[in-house]
Amino acid sequence: MAQLMFRCPYTNKPIRLGVELALESFKAVAEYPISVYCPYCNCQHHGSMSDGCLTEEQAPPLAPREP
Ligand SMILES: [Zn+2]
Repeated sequence: MAQLMFRCPYTNKPIRLGVELALESFKAVAEYPISVYCPYCNCQHHGSMSDGCLTEEQAPPLAPREP
């Protein structure tokens, strides 16, 4: 599974959605409209799933968090 990421169109900063998606699933929903809350602009950005991208960044599921 890969992490679904978006990029803010105004600040060009990455927005992590906290969603894991298989590549096949991503293709299947590419035209699906979504709205993403952007913490940089403090508002919602609207687009479609194809505006996002998948990263293969590994996130250990049960790793203890650093304080
Ligand atoms: Zn933004």
